[in-house]
Amino acid sequence: MSNISRAGIPCNLCQSTTVTELASHGRDGAPLRTVACRDCGLVWSDPRPHDTRRFYSEDYRLQYKGSFVPRPKHVLRAGRVALSRLALIRPLLRPGLRILDIGSGGGEFAYLLRSLGHAVEGVEPNRGYAGFSMREYGLQVHRGFIDEVTLQPCRYDLITIWHVLEHTENPAAVLRQLHDALAPGGALVVEVPNVEGPRRSISSTFHAAHLYNFNEATLAAMGAGAGLRPQSVTPSSDGGNLVAVFRREAGEVHPAPAALPGNHDRIAAGVLGHRALSYWTSARPYVRIAHHFWRPLTEAAALSIPRPPRQRLDALYADATGGRRGRLQWLPGLKAIAGVYLLAIFIEWLLLDLTLEQRGWSDWQNFWIFNALLVSLAVTAGLVYRKRLRQKLAGWIAAVVPLASLPVVC
Ligand SMILES: [Zn+2]
Repeated sequence: MSNISRAGIPCNLCQSTTVTELASHGRDGAPLRTVACRDCGLVWSDPRPHDTRRFYSEDYRLQYKGSFVPRPKHVLRAGRVALSRLALIRPLLRPGLRILDIGSGGGEFAYLLRSLGHAVEGVEPNRGYAGFSMREYGLQVHRGFIDEVTLQPCRYDLITIWHVLEHTENPAAVLRQLHDALAPGGALVVEVPNVEGPRRSISSTFHAAHLYNFNEATLAAMGAGAGLRPQSVTPSSDGGNLVAVFRREAGEVHPAPAALPGNHDRIAAGVLGHRALSYWTSARPYVRIAHHFWRPLTEAAALSIPRPPRQRLDALYADATGGRRGRLQWLPGLKAIAGVYLLAIFIEWLLLDLTLEQRGWSDWQNFWIFNALLVSLAVTAGLVYRKRLRQKLAGWIAAVVPLASLPVVC
């Protein structure tokens, strides 16, 4: 199964250089040697696929988003992601916290937390995004990579680092730095992709931008090695991400032993054992397809009202912050319903006129099927814009399909 070799970059968790080569190419088909530590199971790119500094400060956002500053649809998307992240950290919030958001991007999450009354700072290496968040929302942002910025010791009650740690060159050092910046008793929330999450195949697994890949054990051990107490490491409902909550203890630091017996074999077997059949028989690809289908529809409706970024976020966050929803809030819902109606007509034409009529279905039968389809789609679109009903619906659906945690592109 495995291909034992030496790594040029030692394991960031246990310093071993004995590795298994998991893959020779990344998911874009370009060469990307990915290895797993034989002693602890940490997975990383060896050698590094690019000049990390330049890549993240300039190329990265452009490569992903085609823009140096977030466009309205990026603000909307990031605002929605910010609300889902808020739901994850709600149990950790108390009034008036001092919070640091690392990888603050366009500032949407930091702005949400500030709207809730917290003192928030961000860290963002991308010039365009950092400048945008300072200009549009008046946020305090340290521009640079996390390991370049100087953080005041014991300053923060809460630090969040969403989909950043896997991009850093030395994640263990970053966690030690964050440990020192936390006030005693403070919490650190880390989200990373789950290397054990469902994938189509080995060729679709590794990504040049992710220098490290974690599972629950390696993420918890790396935090513990930095002197943090792991409180929980939870996979998202679709298994694609991991959210860890760590605490800085008031007393002494007791780094955990780094070797994780059995973890390498578990990861190697899982990663190399991915099969297309198990992926396509899981709910994940269909949830993704549904997500990609619905998102442009709801976005187009929401973006049809031109608004400055701050007003857009204020309206989006109104339910969470108790603020004003803004005028014409009903218009996107109406437009979504109109869009769904047109879509239903198209489906009716495709499905019924072209298919069922050939099988001898009567116009009367077609009429009822069409109407049932139309009503269900219209009700769904309406629910999307009624938050409480939407949450209830999401709760019912989440019991069957892992819709609550959609994959985050990072
Ligand atoms: Zn190791």
